[in-house]
Amino acid sequence: MDRRHAVQGAGLSLSGASFGDGVLVTSMRRFNRVLAFDPAARTLRVEPGITLGEIFTLLQPHGLSLPVQPGYPGITIGGCVAGNVHGKNQYREGIFANTVRQIDLFHPAHGRLRLSHTENPQLFELTCGGFGLTGLIVEVELTLQHMDSTWYRLSQIPVNSLAETASTMLAMKDDHHILYSWNDLYMDSRSFGGGFVLCGTKAQGEADYPIAEPARLRPEGWLPPFNFLQGPVLGLANALYGAKLGRAENRRLIDAYQTHFPFAHWQRYFDAYGRSGCVEHQVIIGADVCERYFSAVEKLVRSRRVPVGLATMKVFRGQPKLLWFRGDGLSFAIHVPGEPEGLAFLGEIDRIDREYAALPNILKDSRLPAEVVRHHYCEFEWFRDQIRAHDPKRMFTSMLAERLGL
Ligand SMILES: Cc1cc2nc3c(=O)[nH]c(=O)nc-3n(C[C@H](O)[C@H](O)[C@H](O)COP(=O)(O)OP(=O)(O)OC[C@H]3O[C@@H](n4cnc5c(N)ncnc54)[C@H](O)[C@@H]3O)c2cc1C
Repeated sequence: MDRRHAVQGAGLSLSGASFGDGVLVTSMRRFNRVLAFDPAARTLRVEPGITLGEIFTLLQPHGLSLPVQPGYPGITIGGCVAGNVHGKNQYREGIFANTVRQIDLFHPAHGRLRLSHTENPQLFELTCGGFGLTGLIVEVELTLQHMDSTWYRLSQIPVNSLAETASTMLAMKDDHHILYSWNDLYMDSRSFGGGFVLCGTKAQGEADYPIAEPARLRPEGWLPPFNFLQGPVLGLANALYGAKLGRAENRRLIDAYQTHFPFAHWQRYFDAYGRSGCVEHQVIIGADVCERYFSAVEKLVRSRRVPVGLATMKVFRGQPKLLWFRGDGLSFAIHVPGEPEGLAFLGEIDRIDREYAALPNILKDSRLPAEVVRHHYCEFEWFRDQIRAHDPKRMFTSMLAERLGL
């Protein structure tokens, strides 16, 4: 095991976190067994390659679920732990580390180690959100929650701007299990930033029955040579999507699978970016500065005329720590084409983030420069030093780790 390794779950992270130049990729996807399941105690012990969709299918008949589930069913538990990911309502649910009771970690220099809040607690925290740099996660024990119902009642509230979206969501944050927005950032739109706040609560008294898994994304399929989501096509696509949301019935019943994994149906959207794909940029902005932040973003989108394909917000809370994506305020995510003008635009967004102390998500943005990460994450040096002390030969790495100098 002298070669350098990158550990991979499903390979779905958007930032080059699970592969790298000249490194051996160790895929954990096939290690997907359920090792122990105690519905009464609400605990589940699994190998790290099991996916959120597979766990959903196992737990649903028992009326249980994972408390934190990012938006795509193919994501693995190893990826959730090492990315310390969030779900549809971070404000209520917290981050993935909160659901992890125990981790078994393997590193060639240290052997097999058991990590928890009480056993090797420092290494436990470094491994949660450690981007696979502490070694191979080989087993994970998770805490589950009661699902109450497999259905949600979902509504959408129209909003006219990004600032109105933020104030509406902050006012609703305590009352909904699901809370996120869709915003139209088409540069020529008259109501720039308008859209809908989508909010949902668990449905009570509805008949429950098993939910079949719908189709998944096919990242390996054919892609058009250029980006379709620009100019009038983007304007029209956003107008049609907005009209569809506007027509949707309020308090409609949606099953938990669709609610938690909305991206399972977004194949055409991702394909439309063509071979250059899209880059996601996500930040947490303080509620007190978000109005000014959004004005600066609007000015930039209109002047640069960059096609922003998706914009969405969630409410967040928690103390910043290590390289975790956590803080008080609103998360704001955008997708831009992975073409030169999109990348130059994101360079300008980095400047706005710095001005308003908006915390960027390391795991989402494949071009985030090291100096930007160092500026925003005050525990960056400490994290890097701890990783180097644990893995002095740097056997575990990735494109992300190389880019950030970890
Ligand atoms: C469509 C889509 C929707 C998404 N929605 C959300 C969302 O709502 N919220 C959110 O927070 N994120 C979201 N993400 C991001 C995603 O949750 C993370 O990038 C996650 O880490 C991907 O998991 P993966 O199994 O693909 O892992 P990979 O991409 O393969 O790896 C991710 C990281 O985990 C490490 N890793 C994986 N397995 C192990 C292991 N066994 N041992 C040690 N390290 C390991 C890798 O080294 C790497 O650093 C989304 C991604 C997509 C593609």
